[in-house]
Amino acid sequence: MAVERTLSIIKPDGVEKNIIGEVYSRFEKAGLKVVAARMLHLSQEQAEGFYAVHSERPFFNDLVKFMTSGPVMVQVLEGDNAIARNRELMGATNPAEAEPGTIRADFAQTIDANVVHGSDGADTARTEIDFFFKPEEIHSR
Ligand code: UDP
Repeated sequence: MAVERTLSIIKPDGVEKNIIGEVYSRFEKAGLKVVAARMLHLSQEQAEGFYAVHSERPFFNDLVKFMTSGPVMVQVLEGDNAIARNRELMGATNPAEAEPGTIRADFAQTIDANVVHGSDGADTARTEIDFFFKPEEIHSR
């Protein structure tokens, strides 16, 4: 198995629900290490830039509004198959379709406010990690 890095965000609803520790605990139990982390309140420009790939989608404006509605917790996770493993922990985009025991099934109510983000592939992971962190801010161990 390949050691990978992936970009994870606990979205404003997750921070508001006070489940940062709960989500981090799930990462750690799954063998994923938090190797960089920062809390920040995304600006409109940051949210639009981060989700640029969705700019033509009908939900884009609401997504940007939601992602700028409060602070988020952004982290780099590292571990074997980190990208797919994090997606498994998160569950499906729509919490109604997420497997029981996943973060979204347990904590999210709607498809838009769904608690967590996770990179969906190797190229995306690289781009998304670079979006938030400089190489010297990532502490592999
Ligand atoms: N989203 C939404 N409505 C939709 C689809 C997506 O509000 O019909 C939001 C939701 O917050 C989702 C994000 O846009 O997490 C990115 O969508 P994507 O399909 O990339 O899902 P993800 O990779 O987050 O599971």
